[in-house]
Amino acid sequence: MSTVARGAAQALDWIVLKVVQRCNLNCTYCYVYNRGDDSWKSRPPIITDAVVDQLAARIVAHCARHGLNAFVIELHGGEPLLLGKRRMQRLIDTLRARTAPITLRFILQTNGLLLDQEWLALFDRNAMSFGISLDGPPEVADRFRIQRNGRGSTQKLLDKIRTLRAAGPDFDRLMGSILCVVNPALHGGKLVQWFIDNGFDAFEFLLPDGNYANYPQGWTGVAPYRRFLLEAFDAWYALGSHAPQIRLFEMMMLGFMGIKSPLDALGGDLRRLCVVESDGSIGISDVVRMCGGEFANDKLNIFRHPLDLHASVYQLSQLQRPCAQCQACPHLASCGGGYLPHRFDGSGFDHPSIYCQALYALAERMLRAIRRDLPPTLLSDPTCSLWTADLAE
Ligand code: SF4
Ligand code: SF4
Repeated sequence: MSTVARGAAQALDWIVLKVVQRCNLNCTYCYVYNRGDDSWKSRPPIITDAVVDQLAARIVAHCARHGLNAFVIELHGGEPLLLGKRRMQRLIDTLRARTAPITLRFILQTNGLLLDQEWLALFDRNAMSFGISLDGPPEVADRFRIQRNGRGSTQKLLDKIRTLRAAGPDFDRLMGSILCVVNPALHGGKLVQWFIDNGFDAFEFLLPDGNYANYPQGWTGVAPYRRFLLEAFDAWYALGSHAPQIRLFEMMMLGFMGIKSPLDALGGDLRRLCVVESDGSIGISDVVRMCGGEFANDKLNIFRHPLDLHASVYQLSQLQRPCAQCQACPHLASCGGGYLPHRFDGSGFDHPSIYCQALYALAERMLRAIRRDLPPTLLSDPTCSLWTADLAE
């Protein structure tokens, strides 16, 4: 019997599914293993069949209740490829068979080290795309992205990608995007060019996890991140129609045009997705766990609770409400107040992101570029923040 109070039901259509709780890397900045949340130790290393069966039943009930006919499952870890191909296929088959006729779309986030042609074939036959974590050139990235034996992992990954590309177009056809954790030791513009030179045309910058109570690793203040983001944006914007996709930049610019970003890094609505752990626990964005205390506690589990309690039980509307400074900020539409765990001060989230100054400067640089390059007649709404926000620079 559940002891959780029943709040308003909220539809979600996206689950981050932790199929494996272990990883073959030990990245120094990893929010799972090295930022103070040890909950992975007490969960099954690999998702059980019982959890998969129960999850299918919860998805069916949720979709029926909210009139949904499609659902996204993002396969995550640790390192999800440690599940192995046979188990992975069985998990996909079980979920699809037990939730039919709902359309399930699978995506997967991997560190890429275990990829091979057979994995690509599995992704292909299941209409899946995948993302890879890659932080840039080995000589810098490998200070952080280390293997269990203490050696760097990036050259190994680049060699693997070269081999897969040599075998045919499947790697690039199936790969969605690169996830790159920002390292301000690098020049942002040079890093953009490094990704292009290495054949990547879609990548995403993530600011390292940390907040006012638990600073990002190696934190010396926000200035290096501000510099990095401005360098990267300037280089990217100057490429014009040849620019690769960089979601952080694209979404922030669309924010100025009234399009709310779904990116959690830009205050995207966390009510539309939840994390399901290998023991069936339902949580908020797993990065929020690094905040500890009540934010690291599992309050829900698919064996006892429906999926749609997640938003009300974790009080996501209250937690995500922008602080007074953000509400008064001319760039809220673009920045969204930043990523929820980056706003934490040890007791709550009523603050701008710890990266506020970097995000503010980036938004200003974008706004200046948009105003310079877009004819005003393209915009019909004179109250749009594109025109009303002041530029300090
Ligand atoms: S690859 Fe991902 S899950 Fe594994 S240690 Fe690195 S950041 Fe953590
Ligand atoms: S730039 Fe700073 S104050 Fe403005 S919305 Fe972003 S985090 Fe809030």
